[in-house]
Amino acid sequence: MSQSDLFTPLIDADAAYALFASKPALTPDNAGVFMGVTSTGIFCRPGCPARLPKAQNCRFYHSAEAALTAGFRACKRCHPTRLPGEASTLIKTLVSLVEDDIEHRWREQDLIARGIDPSTARRQFKSRFGMTFTQYARARRLGAAHNTLVSGEAVITAQVSAGYDSASGFRAAFSKTFGAPPKNKSAPPLMVDWIDTALGPMIAVCDSAHLYLLEFTDRKALPKQFARLSKVHGRAIIPGRTDITAQISDELTQYFDGSLQDFKTPLAPTGTDFQKQTWAALCAIPYGQTRSYAQLAEAVGNPKAVRAVAGSNASNGMALIIPCHRVIRTGGHLGGYAGGLGRKNWLLAHEAKHAKA
Ligand SMILES: [Zn+2]
Repeated sequence: MSQSDLFTPLIDADAAYALFASKPALTPDNAGVFMGVTSTGIFCRPGCPARLPKAQNCRFYHSAEAALTAGFRACKRCHPTRLPGEASTLIKTLVSLVEDDIEHRWREQDLIARGIDPSTARRQFKSRFGMTFTQYARARRLGAAHNTLVSGEAVITAQVSAGYDSASGFRAAFSKTFGAPPKNKSAPPLMVDWIDTALGPMIAVCDSAHLYLLEFTDRKALPKQFARLSKVHGRAIIPGRTDITAQISDELTQYFDGSLQDFKTPLAPTGTDFQKQTWAALCAIPYGQTRSYAQLAEAVGNPKAVRAVAGSNASNGMALIIPCHRVIRTGGHLGGYAGGLGRKNWLLAHEAKHAKA
């Protein structure tokens, strides 16, 4: 199988038409396929509820940009120019409301007062953040209180600024979130934020100096990775962002538009010495190229450790940045990818397209 054969499934018209004909839900595996319909001038993505057009009127593209460039308009039903799983306008509005007044004790009544249906907000927050709007707002408030404490302010100041009338209520909420009662010396929490990308939302865990974790939010192992991260570093993980979050968010935008090949965000990966050695070898694989698991094992100086290397490869916790998607099976088959094979295929095609000649 040649390098170019590896990527043909994405633009193979018969396969792409069969995909749309099967009326699939939008998933990471099919998020990179777009269908332009010549009879209507509209283009769609998988998951569109519109009727399936005749095969001879369909053209297939790798990106929404390519379909737009070819002259198609975005379908108003499946919104192919939006990022898959992108935060809704409601979520964006509520998140910025909280950011503008972190110390406020946000309640469902505040939503009703703004004409927002609390049950819609609850459902959307649960789906994106795994917590309700009020839980999210409380976690942000306690995180701010934590920063107040770390900056040397008295516990009472932090308590009042977090909107707690009673010291015991504050202590209980704080302990529940951070695993210890409020005091000036506790370790600062790690901040988690959500970043929308062309391949679905990602989750980034940062402090003010490093990125600790970057993964697609649908990764099954995520709760386990969170628990391990929190335990290893002895720090709570709460919603919020730092300068490092902003940096990785910018770099991801550039990576996905093809203008960035090497990430510069400082990393703090969590793993054993052997894992870190494997990850360093992974980072040495140039953008736009691939290696086999055997070559990777050789690169870490242990040709027999193919299985162990493959295990480390999958568990690096830094999707895209530690480029485990660049490791494929001997013979050109894609092999596995924790983020989904469709994503791996898309990433390799994307990098092959943008790699310097
Ligand atoms: Zn559509």
